Formats: sequence, C-alpha cells, structure tokens
Amino acid sequence: MAGKTVLILGGGTGGLVAANRLRRALDKENRIVLVDRSPYYTLQPSLSWVMLGQRSLPRITRDLRDLRKKAIEVKTAEIASLDLANKKVQLAKEELAYDYLIIALGAAYSDAEVPGLNRAWTYYHPDGADGIHEELPLFSSGRIVLAAAALPLSLVQPGRVRKFAGAQGRAAKTDVIDAHVIAQFAAQMAPTPYTLPDAVQRGLMLLVARRRQIDEMLVAERQRLDQQQLFPDSPVRADVEETVAYLEAKRHDFDQQLHAYVAAHPRWTESAALLRSVPGVGPITTATLLAFLPELGTLTRQEIAALVGVAPMNADSGKWRGQRHVRGGRAMVRRVLYMAALAATRHNPWLRPFFERLRARGKTGKQALTACMRKLIVLLNSILKTKQPWQAPTPATA
Ligand SMILES: Cc1cc2nc3c(=O)[nH]c(=O)nc-3n(C[C@H](O)[C@H](O)[C@H](O)COP(=O)(O)OP(=O)(O)OC[C@H]3O[C@@H](n4cnc5c(N)ncnc54)[C@H](O)[C@@H]3O)c2cc1C
Repeated sequence: MAGKTVLILGGGTGGLVAANRLRRALDKENRIVLVDRSPYYTLQPSLSWVMLGQRSLPRITRDLRDLRKKAIEVKTAEIASLDLANKKVQLAKEELAYDYLIIALGAAYSDAEVPGLNRAWTYYHPDGADGIHEELPLFSSGRIVLAAAALPLSLVQPGRVRKFAGAQGRAAKTDVIDAHVIAQFAAQMAPTPYTLPDAVQRGLMLLVARRRQIDEMLVAERQRLDQQQLFPDSPVRADVEETVAYLEAKRHDFDQQLHAYVAAHPRWTESAALLRSVPGVGPITTATLLAFLPELGTLTRQEIAALVGVAPMNADSGKWRGQRHVRGGRAMVRRVLYMAALAATRHNPWLRPFFERLRARGKTGKQALTACMRKLIVLLNSILKTKQPWQAPTPATA
C-alpha cells in the first residue's frame, strides 16, 4: 500500500488504538487522518478513579493534537455526514476524501431513557465524575444507584475464582491478573447467568426480607421477655411486653401484605397454588420460594438441591468414606425449607414415614431433617416443572 489515505472517525479508545497501530505498520507516504469533535481524549475507564479522587481529569486527558508529532493528522471538527459511495466525509467546514475508512464514533448514552438519571450524577461523563467527587464528602444521606446494563452477568463466590487462579499456580494478584483470571473462569466454568429481578420480583423479595427481619426481632424480644420472669419487680417488663405485642402485630400485617402481593400478580397464581398443594408448605414458604428461588421448576433435581444448599457433598478418599455434609446455598430459602420440612415430618403422609425410616436406620434428627429438606425441594421443583399438584401417596407408593 502506498500513497493512500486512511481516515479514522473518532478519537476515542478505538480511534486512538487504530491510529497508533496503523502508524507503526504503514510507511509514512500513507496518510493517517483522525477526526474528532473534541481536541482531547479522556480515558473513560479511569473516570471511576476521578470520582473517587484517585485521579484528576487533567491526568487522564490527552491532547489529540500531540499525535501530529507521530505523523498522524488530527482534525477537530464535527462530522456532519458520510458519503460511502464516493468515499467522502463531510465535516462542518470541509470535505475529506479517503481510501480506507475506520468508524470509531463510540456510543451516545440515552440518559433520558432511564427515569431520573438526568437528575442524578453519573460518572460516565467527565463532569459527572468530577461532580460526584466534589459532592461525596458532603453526602450524608440519599440514594446511590448501581445500574447494570443488559449484559449477561453471573454472581460467583470470589473464593471460587481465587481457587481457580491458585489451581493455575497464579499466586500474585493485581487488577490485570484478576481481569485475566475472571475472564478465563467465565469461559471455562460457564457460570449460570444471573437474571436481575424486575421491579415486581424485587418488591416480593423486599417484603419477604422485611418479614424475616421482624421475625428475628420478635425472637430476640421474646427471649428478653423470658429473662424478665427472673425479676418480678422489673420496671422494663411492660415495655418488653409492649414491644413483643407490636412486633406480633407487625408480623401479622406483613403476612397479609405478602399474601395480597402474591395474589395481585398473575405471574405467581399458578405456581403459588401448586406449591401450596403440598402439606407443610404454607404461605410464607411459598412467598419465599417465589421471591428467592425463581429457578424452581427449571433445574434438575441435583441442580436445585445444590443451589439451595441441601445436596450432600462426598468427602471420600481411596477406600476411606468421610461423612457427607451440606454446604453453601441460599440461606433465606434454606431457613424456610427447614421449617416447612419440620412441619411436613409431622403432617405430610409422604415425608413423615420417610423421616421415621431414616431415624430407624440410625440417622440423627438433623441428618434425617436435612434429607427431608432435600426431598421436599426436589418434589417442589418437579411439581412446578410438570405443573401437577401434590398427590397424596397411595399405600403402594408411601
Ligand atoms: C466510566 C467508564 C468506565 C469504563 N470501564 C471500562 C472497562 O473497565 N473496561 C472496558 O473494556 N471498557 C470500559 N468502558 C467502556 C470503554 O471506555 C468504551 O467501550 C470505549 O471507550 C469505546 O471506545 P470507542 O472508540 O468505540 O468510543 P469512544 O471512546 O466513546 O470514542 C468515540 C469518539 O467519537 C467522537 N465522536 C462521536 N460522534 C462524533 C461526531 N459526530 N463528530 C465528531 N466526533 C464524534 C467522540 O467525541 C469520541 O471521542 C468504560 C466506560 C466508561 C464511561
């Protein structure tokens, strides 16, 4: 190639990389012309550091015109239109002809499409990043919003990724090494993509979580009430009693809110009825499963048990057989599953005999109950998958 003109539109990351690489690769008799509306380049990923005060805007900004020292022509102008058929680009005041065209004009952010974003600081713009940095020391209350674009994302325990790096013999840790390791982990382990809950799902999650918090406060306050029995003349007893009554009323209120919320959204009508068909599965278990285990009914029995954290993990080596343990999983789901399994071992004609058989075979109460939790979640998974409600076992199947 000789005597040709390469025209690069956009002096952002893509345009700059292209210009520098081509300049190294091409003889000087070939022109490289770069056009951007701004004479300055800002390293966008460093805007988060500007926001945190770890970099200043001048430090992450370069003057594009310095590229002229490397024999790259730079034009500061708005690009008005492209004429691809005639290989021409129209700028505000001149027309440029080219032999090869690279378009690296980036993306325009549609802030207006996200309700409220126009009124918020966002560090995706230099002035926004600088603005947040100035405002942060004054920030005492308000909303900080983390927005994730619609890219697939997975939530992975950091320890798994670290162990993956360790297995590769990579003990050192820097941001660059982390980025490589995370990319390799995602490619090789293919973690399940996480679906961000929409507003309705999030509403149910918040209601369930708040009810749980009230429940925990109630348990603590009831324990304090028990302690009051030791002090007949206690001046605080009435207050503790009042708090217990208040929390009981609050919890009742949340039970009703949860019931109404699930009933108000048709997306859960069928699933809620199917789950409630199982003796031992009440409204709170149902709401918790719908809120925190949306995968129920879509996975295999092994997958759902592992996700909830009730799948026993082998601990064998050679001929040695270690005790199998459950671990990890979704704590919020496991807690309600525990209560549901406990109720089912008393009232469910299918789970009660199973529990009793395990106990008769020498399993501890805890081991037998964990096995019941696993059996119950596998059953609920299958009920949602097949859309067949619970059938009481016949004498032959019990
Ligand atoms: C805060 C932040 C953090 C980020 N973090 C990361 C990260 O960690 N890793 C990562 O890979 N990516 C990150 N990105 C994204 C990355 O910066 C962009 O993907 C990358 O800059 C895109 O390069 P580009 O050349 O396509 O576009 P840009 O860098 O946006 O460049 C486009 C250029 O075209 C110019 N232009 C557009 N229209 C016209 C016109 N009509 N006339 C004249 N000039 C015009 C613009 O002025 C601009 O200079 C981050 C982005 C931001 C904002």
